[in-house]
Amino acid sequence: MTSFNVSLAAYNTFGIDVQADALTEVHSIDELKDALALNADKLPLLILGGGSNILFTKPVHAFVIVNKIKGVRVLEEQGDVLLVEAGSGEVWHEFVQYTVQNGWGGIENLSLIPGSVGASPMQNIGAYGVEIKDVFHSLDALEIETGKVVTFSKEACAFGYRESVFKRALKNKYIITAVRYNLSKKPSFQTGYGAIQQELEAMGVQDLTVRSISEAVIRIRQSKLPDPKVLGNAGSFFKNPVVSAELAQRILGSHPNAPHYPQADGTEKLAAGWLIEQCGLKGFRKGNCGVHEKQALVLVNYGGATGDEIYALSQLVLDTVHEKFGVLLEREVNIY
Ligand code: FAD
Ligand code: NAP
Repeated sequence: MTSFNVSLAAYNTFGIDVQADALTEVHSIDELKDALALNADKLPLLILGGGSNILFTKPVHAFVIVNKIKGVRVLEEQGDVLLVEAGSGEVWHEFVQYTVQNGWGGIENLSLIPGSVGASPMQNIGAYGVEIKDVFHSLDALEIETGKVVTFSKEACAFGYRESVFKRALKNKYIITAVRYNLSKKPSFQTGYGAIQQELEAMGVQDLTVRSISEAVIRIRQSKLPDPKVLGNAGSFFKNPVVSAELAQRILGSHPNAPHYPQADGTEKLAAGWLIEQCGLKGFRKGNCGVHEKQALVLVNYGGATGDEIYALSQLVLDTVHEKFGVLLEREVNIY
């Protein structure tokens, strides 16, 4: 059923209250096709999963399709290796927990990321040393112009750091309907990143399992990231910048403790949160929004903030970091 002039406050984790011209939920590909056919007004389309990576800065003069296409199935099983398909409207963390309960490894480091399965390839979601591209097999997507469902291989998705072809050349051209992942009953665990090892020790874990790693990640995330149900946010607002070795050396000259991670091509990844913190902006508040006090990469809505206010705050952060370090941060959150 389509609703008209609907508030999107409940459909985005920033909790921004903007009106959408029309909104419908779809539970299957057939419902999706029906919704597209019904869009006789030919409003522009906006596909939403969990709304956890979007900032609304204006009214949404569009037909919003909220994706609820469900279903998880094992397509192939060969020895320890599995090919698992999930409907794009599955809740990402619920899908991860399903794989963890079955002892299937591959995405346990990506526990507790909000949002939907269908958005996981959009920005090649990543955390704690694992990105979706590491386990990605293929996806199905409906081409909006033709209504045809097309399969994309890993290469066709052109994954990069928090990037894919769907954020670039094919932006707004496809609706992802199902995603397939390669999982394993005998995974190689990734525990060398961030605080995972420390947390596993604190938990007293002797034998590593998919479940223990998932639990460690959940505990770390709950201790430092704001829960969108309590405090509106969209996770990291900025990407970690990858800069030339020369610029990294210049920053290290004046700040020898700056976190930096060498990349294969000789560039260096810096921690955007650290840069923002060094500018004195961690915990900074302006009106109804601010920079989170525990994690400077996250901008938060204390209640009643508009998208414009949050966008202006993000510009202040960008300008301040640029002025102090000569590093131009890039927004990770989709701006509407
Ligand atoms: P939405 O916000 O609904 O949509 C995001 C974009 O994708 C929009 O442009 C939308 O139009 C498009 N889109 C959504 N679904 C489809 C589809 N089926 N077909 C085509 N286009 C679609 N991200 C990380 O990478 N790593 C993290 O560790 C992480 N941690 C987070 C922690 C918190 C507390 C929060 C709030 C966010 C975090 N995020 C993280 C960001 C976010 O959760 C992910 O990017 C997530 O994949 C977004 O999913 P979504 O369904 O909410 O997408
Ligand atoms: P953290 O562990 O405090 O580390 C700070 C930054 O340093 C991270 O952003 C991470 O980059 C980088 N880093 C840490 N160890 C690294 C290593 N061994 N090699 C290369 N880079 C390393 O980070 P955090 O803020 O608590 O977040 C933990 C993880 O969750 C990170 O992977 C982060 O990306 C992810 N996360 C993402 C979002 C989002 O919305 N995108 C929100 C919350 C958390 P990377 O970010 O490149 O991994």
